[in-house]
Amino acid sequence: MKLRTQILLSILGITILAQVVFGFLAYRQITESRGDQLTIFLQYLNREIAKRLTLPGDPYVSKIYLDELRKKFSTPKSTLIIQKDSRILYIAGNPGQDLDVIARHLNKAYADSDKHGLIDMDGVQYYWAISELPDNDYQLVMLEPAHNEEIKIASTLRQRLISSGFIIIWLAVWISLLLSSKISRELDKKNNQLERMALHDNLTGLPNRTLLSDRMKQVLSQAARNKETFALFLMDLDRFKEVNDTLGHQFGDELLKLVSGRLADAIRENDSIARLGGDEFAVLLPQTDLDGAELCANRILNAMKPHYSINNVSTESKASIGIALYPDHGDSTETLMQFADVAMYQAKKSQSGYAIYDPSQNTHSVRRLQLMNDLREAIEKNEITAHYQPIINHINNKVSDVEALARWHHPELGAISPDEFIPMAEQMGLIRELTMQITELTLKNLSAWKKQGYNDLSVNINLSVYCLQDFSLPEEISNLLQNYGIDAEKLELEITESALMLDLNSAGKILSKLNDLGVHLAIDDFGTGFSSLNQLKNMPVDTLKIDKSFIFDMCESTTDRAVVKTIVELGHNLGCKVIAEGVENKITLDNLISLNVDKIQGFIFSKPLPENEFIAWLDGYNNSTTMD
Ligand code: C2E
Ligand code: CA
Ligand code: CA
Repeated sequence: MKLRTQILLSILGITILAQVVFGFLAYRQITESRGDQLTIFLQYLNREIAKRLTLPGDPYVSKIYLDELRKKFSTPKSTLIIQKDSRILYIAGNPGQDLDVIARHLNKAYADSDKHGLIDMDGVQYYWAISELPDNDYQLVMLEPAHNEEIKIASTLRQRLISSGFIIIWLAVWISLLLSSKISRELDKKNNQLERMALHDNLTGLPNRTLLSDRMKQVLSQAARNKETFALFLMDLDRFKEVNDTLGHQFGDELLKLVSGRLADAIRENDSIARLGGDEFAVLLPQTDLDGAELCANRILNAMKPHYSINNVSTESKASIGIALYPDHGDSTETLMQFADVAMYQAKKSQSGYAIYDPSQNTHSVRRLQLMNDLREAIEKNEITAHYQPIINHINNKVSDVEALARWHHPELGAISPDEFIPMAEQMGLIRELTMQITELTLKNLSAWKKQGYNDLSVNINLSVYCLQDFSLPEEISNLLQNYGIDAEKLELEITESALMLDLNSAGKILSKLNDLGVHLAIDDFGTGFSSLNQLKNMPVDTLKIDKSFIFDMCESTTDRAVVKTIVELGHNLGCKVIAEGVENKITLDNLISLNVDKIQGFIFSKPLPENEFIAWLDGYNNSTTMD
């Protein structure tokens, strides 16, 4: 039933009910009031009669006396009756009815235990009232035809009730119509608001995923009908998570609003944009082919280029766009979304700004999606382990350090390279958890090794740049060191050179806190980034690790050898130890020793090994060196 009808019916129902109840009460009040009067009158008569009684229980009253009383105290039309055991003894006045009829009616009414009321005798209505005479079982009854004022009042009342009832009902109809139209207007407004909220993103006011897929379906069916092409872009901001984490969510929100504004300015009128969540946006471009799509992608990327200024902080926010085209790449909204996502990932990876979907990338993306899913679970279940690779101090030929390297054995896909799952963990915001798990595991092992007599070992742990945004990291590391009874100087954290280039505000503070703890710091993959001497000079760095790409070819390539030589000299001049990693053969080892590298890491000594194998290897190595 429609709301309007419901309101109308309920208001009408309530009005009619109220009308009936009030009418009934008023009618009862009027008819009963005469009965009440009679009763009061009878009680008075009772006392009068009682005065005349000579013997208790024997009424010494006559019809004449009753007549007298009736004339004196009552109306000419009323009748007074004295009865006992349903038998009429005396009657004064003429009710115009058979005595039997009267007695029957009275007794019925009396049996219903009423004291007064209205009875109908052969079509004539009578008020009646009954009262017990004091101290005996005689009853005094009074009858009076009801053709009096009260009945008239009652009938006028009835008429008025009916006419006022019509007016009230008429009013009720109008009121309910007005009310219902007002309520439905309000409801429509609320519904529209809710619908807007359900279909739009709260922060930017842009359409959301639901609305986008709705529009996409429309565009798709139109394109299918008219044999047209269209394009779908998925756009993701580069390093948005970092901005959000370092500059705060409010800043992140403001940035998203500004980005959506620029995006809106960069598209045509019939294109649609949507925010799919986080820093992910979508653009739907009807009637667009490959050229048009590329043109628009470039326009959007250009629009994103200028710095954003938020609360006097200037930041840039580049974007990566993945493009899927209908019908070339897919003919359903789902596949186009999925392929645009694959292309976006490609654009991100290649830093090319935008990428057009390439079917050969798809298998890669399916595997990636599966891995991303499973990685979360693996970290939750603490399934990521560590292998340990020795680092040898070539001066005394002792194993001085061990690098912990994360390992993930996937139940179906087997060993997954850290080069694949570490960036994934970084992107998914899981790297912090993973790093702490590796750190704890390694410190636990180190404490066990210490107990077994391997006192001189130190451990190296890789720290992602994402961990350098977390101010609670130093404290947590310090707690772990304490828990496992490890001196801070036995721990070295490796940070890649490229991480230092990010110049994050938080990184410097966290690194110096770690340094205060006594933890050592190493710059990993040194030579691949572009850290300035100034940065190096101001950082509490203890070790430089030459990137293995220079080591691999240093025997053949004079440039690589020169780079290695320069890094060793630079490191020593800065007061750092220099480690060469990726050393696979004797010639390289000799070369490095001649260049004064302090420590060597590489397959020439050992691959990264599970902890028990590592200890077995260590025993073997120690034995062989002592024998030498
Ligand atoms: P990395 O920190 O530069 O680690 C050294 C990598 O070189 C390791 O690869 C190691 O197995 C490999 N390697 C060592 N010696 C040789 C050699 O002689 N020849 C060759 N060809 N390779 C050698 P792995 O274990 O695959 O790790 C790859 C990268 O993954 C690491 O590079 C590091 O960047 C990252 N990673 C590994 N574990 C962690 C971790 O726990 N946290 C973080 N943030 N990153 C990690
Ligand atoms: Ca490393
Ligand atoms: Ca390295």
